[in-house]
Amino acid sequence: MVRALTARGHTQLVLRTRDELDLTNQAEVSRFFATERPEVVILAAARVGGIHANQSRPALFIRDNLLIQDNVIDSAHRSGVGKFVFLGSSCIYPKLAPQPIKEEYMLSGPLEPTNEPYAIAKIAGVKMCQAYRREFGFNAICLMPTNLYGPGDNFALQDSHVVPSLIRRFHEAKGRGDDRVTVWGTGSPRREFLHVDDLADAILYLAQTYDAEALVNVGWGHDVTIRDLAELVASVVGFEGRISFDPAKPDGTPRKLLDVSRLTQLGWQPRIPLKEGIDRTYAWFRDHAAAARL
Ligand code: GDP
Repeated sequence: MVRALTARGHTQLVLRTRDELDLTNQAEVSRFFATERPEVVILAAARVGGIHANQSRPALFIRDNLLIQDNVIDSAHRSGVGKFVFLGSSCIYPKLAPQPIKEEYMLSGPLEPTNEPYAIAKIAGVKMCQAYRREFGFNAICLMPTNLYGPGDNFALQDSHVVPSLIRRFHEAKGRGDDRVTVWGTGSPRREFLHVDDLADAILYLAQTYDAEALVNVGWGHDVTIRDLAELVASVVGFEGRISFDPAKPDGTPRKLLDVSRLTQLGWQPRIPLKEGIDRTYAWFRDHAAAARL
């Protein structure tokens, strides 16, 4: 978001690091909004992680996300924020939702158990924005991004999402001269990936042009298997050994492809294809490997 806003010439950005402002602390958040009185709020802050992090820390994932959004949405409303963008996630949709997933499928069936606490928190955030819009006319919009990747991601091996994890795994295997990399799960789940710079562009576009209660999916429109993804990352990194799969690790939901027709009708389309996006992310990772969140 900061890259996208700065590139468009915006200078009045109100930014805080996690150390400077604890969004789970109601008093701190309330004081921050009363003092700063921002005009536009983009709530991208959340407790996030990959399938392992979600499974091993379910309490933290539901607690932190409920607190962050409760504090930020309520304080934003009270301080008179003129536009609020809430970011949800494609995991708010039922595990076995028909594909591609339409916005109206939210709450139409049971969730994927590996990330249910996170998804329940995000669904609560959507409902809170919609309730504040109905009761107070609060100008909040709710965007549901698909799986994201890009520079600045979390590259930890255990807790990250699949793209940064594979970039690091293949990079390190190549450096060590390993002849094999093992990828979690069966390789058959399908996922859709969107570069963060595309998401940032969509957020700015919709913040300026969209004002309604209905959710908007933000995705690429096509998906790939985890096996395809692993082969693509291996070729970008230049790893020439074998790729094997560990079915003892969880696959998660079998498929998660968003229906992006609402977004397309609203006039926005992504620009960064997966191969180009992974090239750019790998270049960033190599430049920042020492400082990246490893
Ligand atoms: P999800 O979409 O919420 O399941 O998010 P993830 O990015 O954590 O996982 C996507 C898929 O990639 C799942 O089927 C994982 O089993 C698979 N996967 C394969 N290798 C890895 C890995 O090293 N890290 C993660 N997080 N997932 C992996």
